[in-house]
Amino acid sequence: MALRLDEISSIIRRELEHYEAGIELSEIGTVVRVGDGVALVHGMLGAKFAELVEFPGGVLGIALNLDDEVTGCVILGPFHHIQEGDTVKRTGRAVSVPVGRRLAGRVLSPVGTPLDGEGSLDAESYRTVERFAPRVTARAPVGRPLQTGIKAVDALVPIGRGQRQLILGDRQTGKTALAVDAIINQKTHGVLCVYAAVGQKASAVARVVDKLRAEKALEYTVVVAATAADPAPLLFVAPYAATAIAEAFMDEGKDVLIVYDDLSRHATAYREMSLLLRRPPGREAFPGDIFYLHSRLLERAAQLDHTRGGGSITALPIIETQQGDISAYIPTNLISITDGQVYLEADLFYAGVRPAVNVGLSVSRVGGAAQSKAMRQVAGELRLDLARYQELKTFAHFGAELDQGTRARLARGARLVELLKQKQYRPYPLEEMVVSLFAGVNGYLDEIPVALAGQFEAELLTLLRREHRALGERIRRSAELDEEDEQLLRQIVAQLRQRFKAERGIDTGAEKDGGQADAQNT
Ligand code: ATP
Ligand code: MG
Repeated sequence: MALRLDEISSIIRRELEHYEAGIELSEIGTVVRVGDGVALVHGMLGAKFAELVEFPGGVLGIALNLDDEVTGCVILGPFHHIQEGDTVKRTGRAVSVPVGRRLAGRVLSPVGTPLDGEGSLDAESYRTVERFAPRVTARAPVGRPLQTGIKAVDALVPIGRGQRQLILGDRQTGKTALAVDAIINQKTHGVLCVYAAVGQKASAVARVVDKLRAEKALEYTVVVAATAADPAPLLFVAPYAATAIAEAFMDEGKDVLIVYDDLSRHATAYREMSLLLRRPPGREAFPGDIFYLHSRLLERAAQLDHTRGGGSITALPIIETQQGDISAYIPTNLISITDGQVYLEADLFYAGVRPAVNVGLSVSRVGGAAQSKAMRQVAGELRLDLARYQELKTFAHFGAELDQGTRARLARGARLVELLKQKQYRPYPLEEMVVSLFAGVNGYLDEIPVALAGQFEAELLTLLRREHRALGERIRRSAELDEEDEQLLRQIVAQLRQRFKAERGIDTGAEKDGGQADAQNT
């Protein structure tokens, strides 16, 4: 670290003073430069990484850059009164946050300040924000589904408890919506949630909180927020603080879902801090250790084995891409340290395909093992049909003559795309996802005009809820579709199709046997 001459002289002067005062240099230091929420401190050599330090006026900071003689510190509060020559003290404490059940329903800053005007957090205990991830021997394989209630995700990129699934896409493509819907869906699954808002506008965070409250999802959710108006160091700490809160739940044997919204802004905050700390920038001006920071963060997601209580943390980090570029530095890093990704595409979003999941570019590397049998029964076919559809669609654009088989596949694909559309704030229970997709992959919608596919689905699900409750319950409870129920379901869907078409005067001519054939096979 290069220091200017005047800095050196000020250091020497301070050192002499300290020498005479006989003060232990490992415990205190002197500010040699300060600006933009960052201070370079000479001395304080005993400080540990992420240790809290105290500036004049009781303002806290975090020691980050541990150099031979100078410690880089970020300041967590007002810093305008801090000057060169001020004394800084070690506290011996690491940055910590309140944890525990009482936090559910609350909104707090990354250093534990309540932000919701609801008074003290009343925390049972505190935890340091930095912790080692569970060791491999403490972990069990991912094997239980984390249901998001979103058809396109649960069917095509299933997430298991303990998995890290990246959500990425350009701005305004529904990234937050997807994660918030996943949180709302946990109401019926007993999964506790932590939503870490990093670098968003305060109004955007308020909207999410209001929605969670309205959906009765806030009561099992903790929101940790550092907004765009907060200093970079607070943004930097936010995901670690949120993770510490999640870990306390996991260690009690609970299942937790944590959302980091988003890590692009986290990386930007870290870049800002690092430039101020005068660290050498690397690719895209990000400091080289951003990769390490994110991987260490996401390592803390886990499925613990039963001897450790069997709790889990499922992590949904969010990343914003620029013009769909998933090969930029931060997206590639995150893709390499997660177990899969859901890629949301702006073109699909604008074309009305919402959620805008790009099926070809989205994968789940471990969640398949956790997918329920009922879902697997429909998902295999779905993936194949969609892949064929995407392929054929490209050719169909050239205006080529299409044979009947090709036309049929295009018709099927178009309807499946319709079935995968889903309104925001409307997660589906398992049985509804299964029934809806079952109808699609078995061709019951092939003769229904594409524009009416959504209507057909709605009628089918109403029918299920009103007249075939027991069937729905059986699917939900057993998480599979046995042979008998499959037959029953075929009958229900075939009858609805007949009625649906008759009511709307849809005549396809192809259906001479009145849908009987469908009851056998399609
Ligand atoms: P940002 O980049 O600003 O964080 P984002 O990618 O998080 O955006 P959202 O804020 O979740 O995107 O969604 C963008 C807009 O699209 C919002 O107005 C939201 O209500 C709408 N939207 C998201 N998902 C759906 C959906 N499934 N159906 C209809 N509208 C949706
Ligand atoms: Mg968002």
